[in-house]
Amino acid sequence: MTPAFARLAGAALLAVAAGAAVGAGGPATDPGQRLPAQGRSTPSLIVVFIVDQMRADYLERFRSQLTGGLRRLLQDGAVFTEAYQDHAMTMTAPGQATVLSGRNPYSTEIFRNAEGVQDGRAPLLEVRGPGASPRRFRGTSLFDWIAARDPAARALSVSRKDRSAILSLGRARQAVYWYQGGQFTTSRYYADSLPAWVRSFNARAVRARAPGRVWNPLLPASAYPEPDSVTFENGGRDVAFPHRLPDGGEAVHAFVRFPWMDWLTLAFALEGVERQGLGRGPGPDLALVSLAATDDIGHAFGPNSREIHDQILRLDRWLGMFLDSLGRLRDPRRMVVALTADHGVTPSPEDARAHGDRAARSVSFASEVRALRRALAERAGRAGPGDWVRYFEMGLLVMDRVGLEARGVNVDSVVEAFAARVRRSPAVLRVDTRRSLAARDTAVDWVARRWLNALPPLLPAELMVTLRPNMRWDGGGDAKHGQPTDADAHVPLILAGPGIRRGTYGARVSVADIAPTLAVLAGVPPLERVDGRVLREALTGREAVGAAARARRSATRER
Ligand SMILES: [Zn+2]
Repeated sequence: MTPAFARLAGAALLAVAAGAAVGAGGPATDPGQRLPAQGRSTPSLIVVFIVDQMRADYLERFRSQLTGGLRRLLQDGAVFTEAYQDHAMTMTAPGQATVLSGRNPYSTEIFRNAEGVQDGRAPLLEVRGPGASPRRFRGTSLFDWIAARDPAARALSVSRKDRSAILSLGRARQAVYWYQGGQFTTSRYYADSLPAWVRSFNARAVRARAPGRVWNPLLPASAYPEPDSVTFENGGRDVAFPHRLPDGGEAVHAFVRFPWMDWLTLAFALEGVERQGLGRGPGPDLALVSLAATDDIGHAFGPNSREIHDQILRLDRWLGMFLDSLGRLRDPRRMVVALTADHGVTPSPEDARAHGDRAARSVSFASEVRALRRALAERAGRAGPGDWVRYFEMGLLVMDRVGLEARGVNVDSVVEAFAARVRRSPAVLRVDTRRSLAARDTAVDWVARRWLNALPPLLPAELMVTLRPNMRWDGGGDAKHGQPTDADAHVPLILAGPGIRRGTYGARVSVADIAPTLAVLAGVPPLERVDGRVLREALTGREAVGAAARARRSATRER
């Protein structure tokens, strides 16, 4: 642990951190703190890292330079190389809600960010910002399954983003914190006041945002094959290292776009585990850490940039420090660690063209949507409180069908006319309706499967437009995600710890498989039907046999 990391992680951790000599650039794998390959007891602590916008290919691309937590997980864990967020609308809120619910967005009903955690009835504590709660999240999640067995179980969920901290956990009223207006906070849904340790951490964290702080690459320039100065990165401004935190009050807001945000999030999570007493009992308790800097840096600079390369190297080192420190606070032989992502990312069209896809470009159907709105207003008059077209986002067209039909509008013909215009664009791969999706074989048709997995059954979804790979919705020069393509859906999935068989697994798996698999390790059954399957191939003998027996029992019950 670097002195700064220890300082931030609090006085209680200083003593345990003193033994760790892990420099930011040095060898971070401490042989005494390796994750255990096998074990026999139920874990006392399950730690889940969700890296925002982490593509699966980063692990391979940067593998030779990983020395910290990512390296350790790759070496000691069960590494699934073909894991997918198997739904459309690949955004943070739906992706986060999938990880530990084991269910796709059609079931959690968290299918897009704009209908995620916003809740005016749950104001933030001690800071201005949008109120937030998990009220839209449907059903249960891994922590609920654990708590049903052990009411004393505890959870901590931490992120820079409200939707990540909240939705990765589900609806449980546990210790859930996110970063808003320069500090960690929570909402009234969870608590009436901030604990003293959170206030004290916030006071110490101010130093991390020192105005003028400079982001230089971790390794010598020769370690990065990516060109540094690329004109289309970051909106054409500040495209090359060093990047500098602005002066004065600006620093508070700019801080979240720098790698250090992840370091601060990890330091906060480490202190939270200690202060909330997680992992002390028979367990398991749950610690969820969603790391957002990769998303901010990925959007601005893209997946092919030197900046994202450096961000992943830093994340790797900090994850190593976190695991080292946690391994001194709690018994690492009783700790299960999982790592995945909420979604991947598609490079900007300029970036994709520079990397050989000359057809890549931005697509907008704004004028077609305006024409659709005009046509509906002519036929049906003014809509009531909302709009006949509720939204057209990431290819999903949602309309007020009931209201339109009540005014005698033939919705199908209007939608078909819109679809015909959209289909003319060479950027469009295909246009679907609920009916066309239902007719497809979802075992082989990934577009149909991902849209069906995304859409809540009662959502008045009229059209689903899927773009070709490397096409980008709605202008803008940054990298973007949200489509059902592999670039946006393919993510890392690694499990490590007692009961898990290390190795590389090439089968196609889903992020929804994580929750039922962790449930087996925790010795609890899901409280409802889940979409994921138990990744039995990655469990050691006893766990795998137990999982098979439970699966047989539940299959018998269903018959
Ligand atoms: Zn994003």
